[in-house]
Amino acid sequence: MRRRNLCIGAVIVAMLAVFALVGCGAAETTGAQGSGTETSEQTVGDITQSMTDEAASQLEDELGAFEITAMQRELAKDNEAGYEVLDAGRGNPNWINTKARLAYARLMDFAVAECQRDMSKGDMAGHGQRKGVGNRFDAAMDPADETDKFLIDAVAYCVDTLEMDKDELLMELTDGIVGDYYPSPSRCLTHTETILNEYLQSTLYGGADLAGQTKVFPTEGGSAAICYIFQSLSHNRVLKPGDKIAIATPIFTPYLQIPDVNNYGLVSIDVTSTAESGWDIDESELSKLEDPTIKAFFLVNPSNPASRALSDSTLERLEQVIQKNPDLIVITDDVYGTFVDGFRTAYSVVPHNTILVYSYSKLYGATGWRIGLIAVNEENVVDRLISELPDEDQRELEDEYSIVTSDSKDMAFIDRMCADSRSIGLYHTSGLATPAQVFMDLLSLTHLVHGDDDPYIAQSKKLVRERYEALMDALGLEPDESRENAQYYTIVDINKLIAARYGEDFADWKKSNKLDVEFLNDLASKKGVVLMYGPGFEAPEGCVRISLANLDAEDYVELVRRLGELLEEYHAAYEDQTALSEAA
Ligand SMILES: *Cc1c(COP(=O)(O)O)cnc(C)c1O
Repeated sequence: MRRRNLCIGAVIVAMLAVFALVGCGAAETTGAQGSGTETSEQTVGDITQSMTDEAASQLEDELGAFEITAMQRELAKDNEAGYEVLDAGRGNPNWINTKARLAYARLMDFAVAECQRDMSKGDMAGHGQRKGVGNRFDAAMDPADETDKFLIDAVAYCVDTLEMDKDELLMELTDGIVGDYYPSPSRCLTHTETILNEYLQSTLYGGADLAGQTKVFPTEGGSAAICYIFQSLSHNRVLKPGDKIAIATPIFTPYLQIPDVNNYGLVSIDVTSTAESGWDIDESELSKLEDPTIKAFFLVNPSNPASRALSDSTLERLEQVIQKNPDLIVITDDVYGTFVDGFRTAYSVVPHNTILVYSYSKLYGATGWRIGLIAVNEENVVDRLISELPDEDQRELEDEYSIVTSDSKDMAFIDRMCADSRSIGLYHTSGLATPAQVFMDLLSLTHLVHGDDDPYIAQSKKLVRERYEALMDALGLEPDESRENAQYYTIVDINKLIAARYGEDFADWKKSNKLDVEFLNDLASKKGVVLMYGPGFEAPEGCVRISLANLDAEDYVELVRRLGELLEEYHAAYEDQTALSEAA
């Protein structure tokens, strides 16, 4: 079954049907208090019970994991046991970084005071002035205050280590945070590009020195980054309808859907990893990429849902693959990279073939900010492929971009993405909001002032590890402590768990009597536990994704206890049935 061949219409219809069912259940339950009629006793649980095989199997086929989980979140609210909801479906972290946020507020104060020096009439002020801003910053900051001290250290790092001019830097930060000019340059503020490059190099490149040759485009989160990449690869005729792209599965569901929607007309090929290979990509799967008809390879590293970073040997093999298929474009989403010790991005191994996506959303608890980026090497395969397009294609593209630049022929792909993000015509007002760029600077600098011994990153790893270990211990499973395991999520095969606990007969009964979606519906409606549906990520049947980002360690123990309760209820039903059929 190819879940990705989804039809949007069918999805909407199915979702409406489900929400109508859930909504109707709620209405009837409310009605029960008033009228007490028989049908009004019906609970949400009954409704999911009645939503059996056909409806559930239709859902499994047509909905993505996120849509299914949204439905279960609704069911969990009114769970039969009256438990507090435990939502381990969400990837949104339940922590934030405080230092950069406090520094942002402090910097805003300073920047507004700078504007008031220029002109101040009631709530109205002018613009900040470059001359002497560095000295005024020194005078305003109090080294005895923790937040001020961080800002002092951050500026000192930029001046001493990155060799920036202090006044120029502070001018960019103060104008940027106040947001009184359009982003200029549109793609990325100048000092920001240097800071973001240093951050990427320190956290993701595993020692490779690429900061000086990498261009950065800050975007509205990793989500926008991915949209911009596919939009521009398609618009620039690098990916054409009918082209094959390989996707490392299991993968974050929306990514399964991208090639299908938007009329890109791409054909997707799975490069599958499995539990047996520890969710790393086997040699035989990776060698599919040697086929020159495969134009792009799209992966999340460390992966989501498996939370697994590519091993060093797989990275080496990727390098060999590029030697055989030198036109291959690798698109890597490294949002979870910082959760792995000594992480190495594919970009550090095949920099000229890779488009890197990063997001600040997860590590810094900043999903609401919408801050991510695209990084591309100055010398990259996409620019080369554009330069090798047939003359006619090139002329048409030059024409289109010539409305915003004088040398459209040589416009780099990364700048084309920025122009395309605003339909080319509005290139001059494109680019990420400058306050968001400054916040990215501050987050990056919380790391850079410490270098390899960043206590915040160490804490983030420790936090998810403690939760992961509590979960695995409660499940009675051996934790995977290998370096490549980011432990941000984990995939648990419920069918295997059942077989180990109750034996194969009952596991078979569960498989044939409870579809995965029904099982997850039961877990939500009866026990108030929300997990994510694995096959929606193209993980095998029976698999669920449990997020370690969203609950405290003891919650995972409680979650496993409730799972045990449900399985006991299933088991009782199974024993009743077997007793009946034996009697018959
Ligand atoms: C959460 C997540 C992101 C972050 O996306 P934003 O749009 O930056 O919030 C990116 N990629 C993957 C695979 C994710 O799971």
